[in-house]
Amino acid sequence: MSLQERADALFEDQKISWPLLGDNWEKLSGARLKHFDFDGFTIHVQCNPKRIVSSSAKVDKVSIENRACFLCEENRPPEEKNVWFGEEYEILCNPFPIFREHFTIAKAEHTPQVIESEFGAFLELSRALPDLAVFYNAPNCGASAPDHMHFQAGNRGFMPIEKELESLKQKYGVLLLESDKSRVTAVNDGLRRFYVLESASRKPLEEMGAFAFRFLRELQHGEEPMINMLSYYDQGWKVLLFPRHMHRPWQYFEEGEKNILLSPASVDMGGTLITPLEKDFEKITREDIEDIFSQVSFSTGHFDRMNQDMKNKMKSNEETFGP
Ligand SMILES: [Zn+2]
Repeated sequence: MSLQERADALFEDQKISWPLLGDNWEKLSGARLKHFDFDGFTIHVQCNPKRIVSSSAKVDKVSIENRACFLCEENRPPEEKNVWFGEEYEILCNPFPIFREHFTIAKAEHTPQVIESEFGAFLELSRALPDLAVFYNAPNCGASAPDHMHFQAGNRGFMPIEKELESLKQKYGVLLLESDKSRVTAVNDGLRRFYVLESASRKPLEEMGAFAFRFLRELQHGEEPMINMLSYYDQGWKVLLFPRHMHRPWQYFEEGEKNILLSPASVDMGGTLITPLEKDFEKITREDIEDIFSQVSFSTGHFDRMNQDMKNKMKSNEETFGP
């Protein structure tokens, strides 16, 4: 059995054997959804009350130190089963699903969320799970367990960006690199500024990732790069890298009428906004969406600088990026 088949079987089994997941999964089919059309793309909003746990997660140092880590084996409920990915990662079912099939892939060891050393694992995971979009939320960009290294994955075809990617590249993209083996496109669609890294081989992707992570780390004074990342594998990789400017928008912290409890992460950048509260789902407008993205997306100034930097670095590396 392939890893994909074993993961599918795990999810099927856990829907029955783990009531928390089973109940939340059933409610998902009735989740309300609405959409907003922008020029050449769509933003969906999903009302998902169960996501309150993640959206409102306190991720400051003190709160994290004072809670038992839910990804560590000793704190998991007895119903929760796993499938191993290699010797370091465990595929687990996410008991608060956004997707029809939603996994959390956690490192067996309790170590903090970091991307540089784990990007290779991210790529391999994506290749081993071709029916899923694999994603990564940086510790300060939506991860609810920033102290425990993990990825997530959900069934393909759910986030609007997947179907829109080619037209977004056409309409809003600038090609930073095109060789026989790889392509890098910088896309600014007005709401999001992101990179599409494409290659059928791992080495150029690892180099591109390394350039991007280093640039962001320097820009952010040595902090873990603020990013969200999605990856799809179909004969080659498509990695979507969203550098971020801010973790949570002002609406998140506001009290009363102006409050919108929305904590953007990879799925939101992929075009599906998650509102755990009904009142937010009802009232959210196109202007709110534009305002939220304008705060959390990478700034145009930084984006232009990073485009130039990426371009220069790839150009000077003939061996990996030459024609
Ligand atoms: Zn842990």
